Amino acid sequence: MDSGKIDIREMHWFIHMLQALDAGLVVLDRDYRIQVWNSFMENHSGRHPGQILGKEIFSLFPEIEAGWFRRKAEAVFQLGSRAFVTWEQRPYLFRFRNYRPITGRAEFMYQNITFVPLLSLAGDVSHLGLLIYDVTDTAVHKQALEQANRRLAQLNRTDHLTGLYNRAYLEEMLAREYSRSRRTFQSCTLMMFDIDHFKKINDSHGHPAGDAVLQATARVLKESIRDTDIAARYGGEEFCVILIDTNAKEAQLVAERLRRNMEAETLHYDGKEIRWTISSGIAELVELMETPAQWLECADKALYEAKERGRNQWRLYKEAV
Ligand code: GH3
Ligand code: MG
Ligand code: MG
Repeated sequence: MDSGKIDIREMHWFIHMLQALDAGLVVLDRDYRIQVWNSFMENHSGRHPGQILGKEIFSLFPEIEAGWFRRKAEAVFQLGSRAFVTWEQRPYLFRFRNYRPITGRAEFMYQNITFVPLLSLAGDVSHLGLLIYDVTDTAVHKQALEQANRRLAQLNRTDHLTGLYNRAYLEEMLAREYSRSRRTFQSCTLMMFDIDHFKKINDSHGHPAGDAVLQATARVLKESIRDTDIAARYGGEEFCVILIDTNAKEAQLVAERLRRNMEAETLHYDGKEIRWTISSGIAELVELMETPAQWLECADKALYEAKERGRNQWRLYKEAV
């Protein structure tokens, strides 16, 4: 190309290449009438230029939100600079069906759009060019990856046997609630409980029966607390519950309800009936607990007392560590 001029032969080649381009090319005039419609657009929309040229884009493609599109386009006309819309902001401009076999999961074509200001010979922006890129593969893969990551994060904090949170996550939440409660002065209570004589259950019914009791315990626990409370399997047959926005007095009611519900439960396993009880320690977060670990220790001490006093009961942690 010489000093910005394109000879007629080159022009011809350019047009050929534009037609072969694997991207949509559309040119609109100031009144949003379509002036150029390349073969990519023809193939995906199923409408050939003859049906399209000279017509207003909004009347042909109702999926384009006119108010939004005009605002975007006016900025390009006024400022003479490019604008971009990614599939993450808007999945598509033109709703085209997705035919690609590998990305069969997407129903429509995800698109990235570039708005290009086109100058008239007088130097003002007289037209608007749209470049439409098919980014379905990228979008589908990114979404699948995000979904896998979410699942992984979920698995990382879940106890596999019971579906409750695991110890690592409980400790994270304990630290979070500790500082939140300190900041907001909202009460928060930790309850820790342990199944009574669990070894005997394993010994007389077998380890799988013990596992089933752990699962049933988790179920009864979930049914006995609020959705906002955080319930975790701390380890073995020990469980922890962070009772959000709950003081010691209210926590005692929860502990008693849980104790009774657990005692009333019967598990039918292998033709046998298994029953069990729990002992709990309750510790409301108070000033003298200097770390989340101390808070946990207080609940554990109260739990130990409940065991000492004969099991199937709860004990409240009383100050002076
Ligand atoms: P206590 O009333 O004093 O709590 O008596 P206990 O028998 O429950 O006491 P201990 O804590 O000593 O026993 C816990 C038992 O739990 C020992 C261990 O074999 C069993 N256990 C720990 N994890 C699992 C598990 O995932 N499945 C099963 N089936 N048993 C487990
Ligand atoms: Mg134990
Ligand atoms: Mg036990």
